Amino acid sequence: MVGNVQVGGDALPSVQSMTNTATSDPQATLEQIQRLADAGCEIVRCAIPNKEALEGFEQIAKASPLPVVADIHFDHELAIEAARRGAAKLRINPGNIGSMDRVDEVIDAAKEAGIPIRIGVNSGSLQKEIDKMDIPLSEKLAKSALAFVEHFENRGFTDIVISAKASNVREAIEAYRLIAQETEYPLHIGVTEAGSTFAGTVKSAVGLGTLLEEGIGDTLRVSLTADPVDEIEAAYEILSALDIRRNRAEVISCPTCGRCQVDLIDIARQVNERLDEVPQHLKLAVMGCVVNGPGEAREADYGIACGKGSGILFAHGEPLRKVAEEDLVDELFTEIAGSC
Ligand code: SF4
Repeated sequence: MVGNVQVGGDALPSVQSMTNTATSDPQATLEQIQRLADAGCEIVRCAIPNKEALEGFEQIAKASPLPVVADIHFDHELAIEAARRGAAKLRINPGNIGSMDRVDEVIDAAKEAGIPIRIGVNSGSLQKEIDKMDIPLSEKLAKSALAFVEHFENRGFTDIVISAKASNVREAIEAYRLIAQETEYPLHIGVTEAGSTFAGTVKSAVGLGTLLEEGIGDTLRVSLTADPVDEIEAAYEILSALDIRRNRAEVISCPTCGRCQVDLIDIARQVNERLDEVPQHLKLAVMGCVVNGPGEAREADYGIACGKGSGILFAHGEPLRKVAEEDLVDELFTEIAGSC
């Protein structure tokens, strides 16, 4: 459990992100956490780079609507202190904490606070002996993660989540596959340093999508060089593409072609922006023409198929009525509101 969020077991994969405001600024951070929560984020992580951030962290953890994970590198004392100041989970990379004795102190602090630890591994925080081996990075990541897990178990601590992130998608996939073969601990999946919104979403969709389709992954973060809220949208797109879970209605829209005589890109944008108004199990179609529109989108619950200056509103592949172009989006949502 991370706060009130179950990770692993029979729980669906949870969606998380990380704030990019200064943790020493609780007001700005809490505002961002609220935006993340509104977007459907379930667990949030804050960096604690120094002692000043600890003060902020305590206030954030107290007031946050989401469980807050303390993200610590290098300094085990910050981790110990974060556990005492309300962290719902600690994230450390044991490979960069300095020594396993220091890791043990962190383990003991988590035990005392009753909170889990994410054991993180990336190419910069491999177990030293394993790093020297002449094996692929994916194997180094998996072996390191499992070696750290064993250390935690020997210390009597099993409340753990594992992550083994690589920026190369195929290496990340392979590392997680290897770990999943060896252990049943919950896995936090992600592709690290994935990139800006477009490239990072595609990379994450390929990496996380492959893993999730294989049943691997209990909580996910899509790492983007962007507003963290974009990470939540991307995560849900990945989960909903695989029919695992969704947090809003699905929109299918045609790619447009020479038959299209309206600004369909703008119409699709408007529909996407108003999805909060409709039940999330619905599928809405936005089609550029009446020739193929309703037929192509037969599986949609509701949709619009545009013509020249007007369009047809349809439900389950059957036309309902003709509507002027400028009223199409409003009429679509009025129709749905009237039938739900
Ligand atoms: Fe072209 Fe019509 Fe198909 Fe859209 S629905 S791609 S406009 S044929």
